[in-house]
This record gives sequence, structure tokens and C-alpha cells, in this order.
Amino acid sequence: MTVLEAETADALDILQTIYGYDEFRGQQREIVETVIQGNDALVLMPTGGGKSLCYQIPALVRRGTGIIVSPLIALMQDQVDALQSLNLNAAFINSSMDAREINYTENALLSGDIDMLYVAPERLLMPGMLALLDRAQIALFAIDEAHCVSQWGHDFRKEYMGLSLLAERFPDVPRIALTATADERTRDEIANNLRLQKAAKFVSSFDRPNIKYTIGEPQNPRDALLNFLDNHHVDDAGIVYCLSRKKVEQTAEWLNKQGRVAVPYHAGLPADEREHNQKRFLREDGLIVVATIAFGMGIDKPDVRFVAHLNLPKSIEAYYQETGRAGRDGLESNAWMAYGLQDVINLRSMMAQSDADEKHKRVENHKLDSMLGLAELTGCRRQALLSYFGDTLVSPCGNCDNCINPPQTWDATDAARKALSCVYRTGQRFGVSYLVDVLLGKHSERIQRFGHDQQSTFGIGMELTSNEWRNLYRQLIAKGLLSVDVDGHGSVQLTEEARPLLRGEQPLYLRQLPKGEAKRSKSGGRSKASASISEQDQPLWEALRSLRKQLSDLAGVPAYVVFNDSTLADMIAIKPRNENEMAMVSGVGQHKLEQYGEEFLDVIRDYA
Ligand code: ADP
Ligand code: ZN
Repeated sequence: MTVLEAETADALDILQTIYGYDEFRGQQREIVETVIQGNDALVLMPTGGGKSLCYQIPALVRRGTGIIVSPLIALMQDQVDALQSLNLNAAFINSSMDAREINYTENALLSGDIDMLYVAPERLLMPGMLALLDRAQIALFAIDEAHCVSQWGHDFRKEYMGLSLLAERFPDVPRIALTATADERTRDEIANNLRLQKAAKFVSSFDRPNIKYTIGEPQNPRDALLNFLDNHHVDDAGIVYCLSRKKVEQTAEWLNKQGRVAVPYHAGLPADEREHNQKRFLREDGLIVVATIAFGMGIDKPDVRFVAHLNLPKSIEAYYQETGRAGRDGLESNAWMAYGLQDVINLRSMMAQSDADEKHKRVENHKLDSMLGLAELTGCRRQALLSYFGDTLVSPCGNCDNCINPPQTWDATDAARKALSCVYRTGQRFGVSYLVDVLLGKHSERIQRFGHDQQSTFGIGMELTSNEWRNLYRQLIAKGLLSVDVDGHGSVQLTEEARPLLRGEQPLYLRQLPKGEAKRSKSGGRSKASASISEQDQPLWEALRSLRKQLSDLAGVPAYVVFNDSTLADMIAIKPRNENEMAMVSGVGQHKLEQYGEEFLDVIRDYA
């Protein structure tokens, strides 16, 4: 056996005995080999792809401690708990510890007793810490959430910039940077800013086939959300994203009134409340977090069954990152969004008011256009998403709203011309509600004051309802035929793009409004995760979950640290009768077998 063969065998052995998985997934094997051999790697893999193993296994095979740079102190405890549940020696050093604890951990590091050590970048770069690392044996540096070094991305953290220093100071230690952010500019910036230009690059497909995408424009988004939850997620954990803090709080309160357990999360809450709510989300079954974009990065919870948006995100990057937090465990999950005219107006006018320089503004506008394009799309959402990231999916996915229920289009040419001329005739100074009133011939005091009841467009739109007109205006704004004023009052103006249509040179086909929402059904709202379990096995599924909950409460760790949902599902598929058979279940490694095997076997035997 060559050295490499021996090391690869070690790596596979670790995967099987410690983690309890049969084989490497996707590019994991190549990545692990690269780092074991002492080479640098840049890894782009979607959430749930299995990035952690890419540095954990090399850290175990190579001599010394793996140093893991991770941005969020609050999550380090969970990361360490997860490794300790596999009987690995993991620790962190951060500002929440007192001097004695830090000292203890530093000594353990120096005596080689730690397999993996988590630190935040600002801590790593302190002179004292660097001096300590000089004296320790280091297996590798793993830089998690590496997109934080990119100013282009949405999570820039300036402490990450300093990490380029590792290249000079520890030239012999391999470095592996990992991120789930896909776009090429971010990728290039990571390579440059971390001095990883020569690193081996591993780019996985960004498809998340287990996530079902649905984007709609319901009249009442909140009710639609409740329908969606009742129909698909009666007792599942999930995230609801809103744009403003106020809406976050109102929505959380409202969900609680509807009998769901929901907590708010946004940057305006006191730090301890935020941390508490985050912890509950990780620990409790079926909790909903209603959050602004401040929530989610670095959260490893594998069984988030849905991510809902009550507002349109600013870019496809943000949308994909946020929805990507669903279904890390590979089980079926939902990405659901409701948006409306006001979203489109708000975002358009926010962009117009932004004080960024022209170049930046153009980029931001382009991103927003792409997001709006995705929302208004009539084709496969997944194909559009992947193509945005330079990935191709040859045929439609069959697992998005447009694939499952192809939207009808209608010839909106005439209606759109009426809508546009109404903007023009009233002087391009009014918002959509006013324009709709004019089209419908409403005799309001305001309309009379401006004399618009004498206009040629007054009352020419009786063939559509007010909601249909709003819907049409939304699509015209989304398509860029109308722009929204910077004044913040939402008045709309014609753009160059509107001309061909107004002149009758171009037809316009638009997405038809869906006919009513699916009715609420209180029954049958089991999530897909448990729906994949047969009716007959439901009691066993519940019993396994309840045992898991007891054990995780006892240990004070999140339930998934004991076993995640896909491991429980595999237990039900295999129905092991003894320890040997239990060891074959995916996710049952040696240590967990010893720790929990008997108790889970007992439950399974009871139901056999
Ligand atoms: P990421 O960090 O890329 O989002 P994780 O490292 O958290 O993903 O892995 C996602 C899930 O997939 C975890 O539950 C993990 O245990 C599981 N997993 C990772 N690699 C494998 C594998 N080779 N076989 C089976 N499950 C795996
Ligand atoms: Zn599709």
C-alpha cells in the first residue's frame, strides 16, 4: 500500500466507524485526500452537502489539532457537542470563557489532546493565540463560512480579511476554505483574499433536489402562510423570513395566536434574547423562528423542514442561501414565498434611493431584476435558479410549483397598454392604488380634484378587478416597464422599455392570477419527513422521536446531536433486531451504538 492508499483507507475507516456512514458523498473523498496530503482546498458545496466531514476527517487522519475558524461564537457549543457525541475531543476558545477555562484548553492543545479546536477569526489573530499555535502541532486550518471574506457577498466580516496571514505564518499547514455561496465573484474574492489562488477548487452542483420551491402572490399572505403550514407542516421546525423588525414581531405574535409556537429573531432584540430564541430553535422540536436576514448563518440544524418568505429577498443569492437552510438532512422540505405589489415597490424605490455609487447601483439593480424575474417566472424555478449560478439542469425539475402546476398565461397586451397610458395621462405622479381607481372609474374626491375623471383613461378598465389591475401593475414594475419614484410615495413612471408596447409593436403575455388558495385542512398536514414513513410505522416514528427527545434533554444537547431524522428513518426502514444490524443504520457509528443502541433497539423490538 502506498502512503496515500493507507491514508485513504484510514479516512474511509473513520467515516464508517466514527460517523456510521457507508461511503463518501459527492466530492468528499477527493477533498479529504487533498487535505490529508497537505494541500490547500477551496470547497463550494451547497448547504447539506456535507462540508463538515471535508475538514473533520483530515483533522483526524493528520497529526495534530484541526483549527476551525468559525464566525459565530454562539454556535460553537453545539458544534463541539456534536463532535463529542461521536467521542471526539473537540473544544473551543472564545470570549465567553474565563481565564481558567481558556488556560485549561490551551494546555490541552499544547499536549496534543484536542482533535478539533473552534475559534472565531478575531480570536485566532490575537498575537497571544498565534504564539500559542506556533508551539502546537496543527493538522490543518479550516475556514468555515469563507464567503465572509468577500465584500461582494452579503455577510462580509472584516475580521476575515486578516486570515490571509495564515498563509505566511503557517506555510506548511494545509488550509481548507468552505462556503455554500455559489457565485463566481465571491469565489474569486475568497481565493484572492485568503491567498488560496493555488488551492485545489471543488465546486459541487448547487442543486438541492429535496427542496420544493413555491412562489406565489396571494391576496392575503398571512392566511396563505397559515394554510401552507396547516397543509404541510403541522408540527415541523421552520424559519419565516420578513424584511422588517416590526413585521417579524407582528408575525411571530400572530402565529402564536394561531396556536403555533413561534419566536422572533432580529438584530434589534437584546443579545441574550436572541441567543435564547436561537437556542430554543436548535433544541426544541417544531419551533418556528420568524426572523430578518440576521438569522441563520452557521446554523447546522439538519431538520428545518420549511423556509417561508413573507417578503421578496433582495437577490437570488440571498434567496438561495436562506431557502438552503431547509432540509440539510436530505429529506423533503419546502421553500415557500408569498410576495406582492408592495414588495416590488419597496425594493425598487430602496434601490433608487440607495447612496451607493453608480456602478454598485447597477449591480444591485441587476440582482433585483433577476430576483423579480424568478418570482414572475412561468417556467421551472430550479432551472432558473441553477442557471443563475452557472449550473445547468437539462430538463424541468418536476419539484417546483411551476412544474407541478404550470401557470396559465394570458394576452395582457391591451390591458397593459391601458395601464401604461393611465400612468402617462395622469402625469406620472401617482401610485398604483390611485391609477387603479382611475381605470375603474371611481369618483373619489382626489380624482375629481385633479380632474382625472375627465381623462380618456377614466373608467376604461372595467374588464378587470382591482386586484387584477394591481397584479398587472406589479408585473409591469417587475419587468421594468414602469419605474418607481425615489420620493418614497411609490409614484410610477414609464421607462424606455414601455415604448414598444405602447406603440403596439410588441405583445405581452403575463402569468395569470391563480384561482383562490388551497383550502385549509387541519388533517393530513404531516410533513414530508414523516409522510415518507408509512402509516403503519407512524407510531414507531413517534416513539423513536420521543426517546430521542428524552436522551437529548438529559444530555442538554439538540435532538439531532443524538440522531438526526434521516437516521431515525433508516432505523424504521431496516428495523434492526440486534447491535450488528443497528450498526448498519446510516448515522450510527461505534460510539453512538454503544451509547444509545440498546435503548433504540428496545423501542424497535416493542413495535416489531
Ligand atoms: P454542510 O455543512 O455542507 O451544510 P453538513 O456537513 O452539516 O453539511 O452535512 C449535512 C448532513 O449530511 C449531516 O447530517 C451529515 O451528517 C450528513 N452527511 C455528510 N456526509 C455524509 C455521507 N458521506 N454519508 C451520509 N451522510 C452524510
Ligand atoms: Zn421545476
